[in-house]
Amino acid sequence: MKIGVLALQGAFIEHEKKLIECGADIFEIRQRRDIEHSFDGMILPGGESTVMGKLLLELDLMQPIRERILNGMPVMGTCAGLILLAERIAEDNTVHLGTMGMTVRRNAYGRQLGSFHTAAQFEGIGRIPMTFIRAPYIESVTSAEALAEIDGRIVAARDRNQLALAFHPELDESAAVHEYFLNMQ
Ligand code: GLN
Repeated sequence: MKIGVLALQGAFIEHEKKLIECGADIFEIRQRRDIEHSFDGMILPGGESTVMGKLLLELDLMQPIRERILNGMPVMGTCAGLILLAERIAEDNTVHLGTMGMTVRRNAYGRQLGSFHTAAQFEGIGRIPMTFIRAPYIESVTSAEALAEIDGRIVAARDRNQLALAFHPELDESAAVHEYFLNMQ
């Protein structure tokens, strides 16, 4: 199985390590020609969604990635990657890929509580560790289905071939979320 990892900015190396640990082949997506061959899925890592969105447009990657997602390519977005996928960002007119039926709120835990570590139930996996870094949360879902919640706030959701997480599964010991994603193929 061959997974492309968006490697423009942010925490992509940790995702690569997890995927390799799970037995997948990986390659980095840095420019348009990197996506012009066949592969089985894609990761949109954490980082800064504004910067990543701008680079996706500048590099002419936004439209081809959106098309692949709409054609059913499995995609996993973590943190900033979740923001890229959302069809709506609360109190913000920006839409990046906009393929996933949910509204997200950026930097939703405030500056002081911006980063924390906890554990919670993840539908289909069980209880797993979750690390949040200046995280967004999912305020509401339309076509997406919630998979995990913390204090009544959705932190993971799935919309058919799309998986979005407010936390960073690549930073914890468990590889369960990456395995879940690889099984979405
Ligand atoms: N706060 C970042 C954003 O809005 C996301 C943080 C992260 O990816 N760790 O893009």
